[in-house]
Amino acid sequence: MIQEIQDKPGQQRGLAICVSGPSGVGKGTIIRSVLARRPSIRHSVSITTRRPRPGEKNGIDYYFVDHPTFERMIADDEILEHDCYCDQYYGTPRKPLAEAIGSGLDVILDITVPGSLSIMQKIPECVTIFLLPPSFSELENRLLKRGTETDDIVRKRLEKARHEVTMADRFQYLVVNDDLAETAQRILAIIDAEHCRYPYQAGIEQVVLAR
Ligand code: 5GP
Repeated sequence: MIQEIQDKPGQQRGLAICVSGPSGVGKGTIIRSVLARRPSIRHSVSITTRRPRPGEKNGIDYYFVDHPTFERMIADDEILEHDCYCDQYYGTPRKPLAEAIGSGLDVILDITVPGSLSIMQKIPECVTIFLLPPSFSELENRLLKRGTETDDIVRKRLEKARHEVTMADRFQYLVVNDDLAETAQRILAIIDAEHCRYPYQAGIEQVVLAR
């Protein structure tokens, strides 16, 4: 459990929403679409040692750092969870996530499967969503079409994807990303439903009775 979440009196805590799924499934595009439809939701900007892709901006898509900086941040406990994915580090900055949740904002994390498992330990009330491609061959096409990785990295990502899909049963929700608009809508429906769950709303019935 993370200690830094400072709940404000009368303020419900925001949700930490972990979105995992194999590389190429469209997590980034889906998350952007969810954020565009619901601007009150925040995106947890991760720290990574991988190089920026064309068009990616530091501080918006990721915080791009070198290996020594990442290791120093781990040592200083600035990173809530981290994973090494295809030889590069990725991690969730601790403070902005804790602050956003504490002030009632929902935050989406684009995160590897081990990263989601780690968040489940640290924030047990988190919401976990696994995105699946319509088929494995479609995933391969999407990764090749993206053209942002070398053939060797595409091969590594595909190998990893097969393993990641076998971990889907660890998640609360599975969504097949067949159609961007429909997938984004489903994720928003999950978030709305989570806000209506009893533990989240607990006590509201007393407030209603007192009115
Ligand atoms: P990409 O290089 O395609 O942007 O990301 C590679 C993988 O790293 C994706 O599966 C993405 O979800 C994951 N990732 C991005 N940020 C984080 C993070 O902060 N923590 C973890 N564990 N995984 C992350």
